[in-house]
Amino acid sequence: MTVLIAGGGIAGMTMALTCHQIGLSARVFESVDELKPLGVGINLQPNAVRELFELGLEEGLDEIGLEAQEWALLAMNGKDVWSETRGLSAGYRWPQYSVHRGRLQMLLYEAVVDRLGPDAVTTGHALTSYESRDGDIAAQFRTSDGQTVDETANLLIGADGLHSTVRSQMYPDQGEPRWGGAVMWRGTSQGIPIRTGNSFVLLGKLEHRFICYPISKPDPETGLSTINWIAERRFDAEQGWTKGDWNRQVDLEDFIEYFEDWIFDWLDVPGLIKESKAVLEYPMVDRDPVPSWVDGRAGLIGDAAHVMYPVGSNGASQAIVDTRILGAAFVEHGAGPTALNAYEGELLENISALVLRNRGDGPVGILGVVEERCGGTFDDIADVITREELDTFMANYKAAAGFAIETLNAAPPTIPPGVKATEAP
Ligand SMILES: Cc1cc2nc3c(=O)[nH]c(=O)nc-3n(C[C@H](O)[C@H](O)[C@H](O)COP(=O)(O)OP(=O)(O)OC[C@H]3O[C@@H](n4cnc5c(N)ncnc54)[C@H](O)[C@@H]3O)c2cc1C
Repeated sequence: MTVLIAGGGIAGMTMALTCHQIGLSARVFESVDELKPLGVGINLQPNAVRELFELGLEEGLDEIGLEAQEWALLAMNGKDVWSETRGLSAGYRWPQYSVHRGRLQMLLYEAVVDRLGPDAVTTGHALTSYESRDGDIAAQFRTSDGQTVDETANLLIGADGLHSTVRSQMYPDQGEPRWGGAVMWRGTSQGIPIRTGNSFVLLGKLEHRFICYPISKPDPETGLSTINWIAERRFDAEQGWTKGDWNRQVDLEDFIEYFEDWIFDWLDVPGLIKESKAVLEYPMVDRDPVPSWVDGRAGLIGDAAHVMYPVGSNGASQAIVDTRILGAAFVEHGAGPTALNAYEGELLENISALVLRNRGDGPVGILGVVEERCGGTFDDIADVITREELDTFMANYKAAAGFAIETLNAAPPTIPPGVKATEAP
């Protein structure tokens, strides 16, 4: 095995598909016993969709996702502060998709099994440590039936997410993820899509907001789509919160009071929340950027490398892009430590800056400016902020996050079709 991947999430599965595309042998070791379509909605930005299309997943993605058309920020009074087209209608050569995270993971998983074979993914194996051995890297796993297993490869890729064991071996003193005070309650409900029918809508103010967007095509008979929603409120970060866990289920009564009167003639927030079969609570956490994602023959990708606040909808997208930049480095330098360092050299500085930038509210920060100037009450947004100010704010974010339209459209494929990588010493 050339590349051993710890973690079978979005990053791990895309890494395996990328290795397969460039002719490297790879295996994924995942801690859970059975991969299930967990989570709620996520957005895939055009830069990540491009990479998935280049991996031949266009049809599958179109089947499970919904092309996003609009991204809109609305103040507490329900009026538009900013709205823009997204994806193809914004001029990108690739669409933006809203998709259920679990369905995306399953699409990638099935593609891995189909292309690399059923032995490419081993579940029930949690990585516990790694060490260099005779010019290779050896990884130790604890299996779900309590055994210890040892696997050796040329490289280890830590794609093991927010609580990455690979990262904690690199940085034993990093501590728990950092919580800035925001808590998100997330769910999916059946509802009639609003505005364009494919709109991402963020309503409210920085410390108290509601986000919703459809993640499925409407049922032809009822007109109902699956609507992904996130209700968010900021608390005093000093009080502490539970450890970040993507699957903690809570009761409506725990938070519905914060949104009870958010009723507009075009959106009934409490009504939508109450339609959800389950609500997941998640404290918005990230980690401080680290000086390196590489330790000899081990490298980090995805959330293990740079978990960030989801304010710009780019956590999953960046995880996908990471795997492609690393794949391109394998092609150029061979699959060895030099490629890991080249990948890090290309991304670490910018992505670390993005992690910190997202702490400052990312593109949603503009709502803070509006709130500061008028307390969120206005008839016409032009009386509060000029169009030029809005344009500059948004363009800066897009450039930093790697989805500036012209740059992306003009960029050659990250991995040209047909190229292959070799193993490097
Ligand atoms: C169950 C789950 C639900 C999520 N739901 C949402 C959501 O609703 N919305 C959202 O924006 N983001 C969600 N996320 C996070 C989102 O998937 C990531 O932010 C993003 O896609 C980057 O993906 P990743 O592959 O780096 O990390 P992840 O998607 O977190 O994947 C990491 C994988 O590594 C596995 N793993 C962890 N430790 C080990 C170990 N020691 N050895 C082997 N395997 C290990 C995990 O089980 C997981 O499958 C969720 C993550 C998980 C794990």
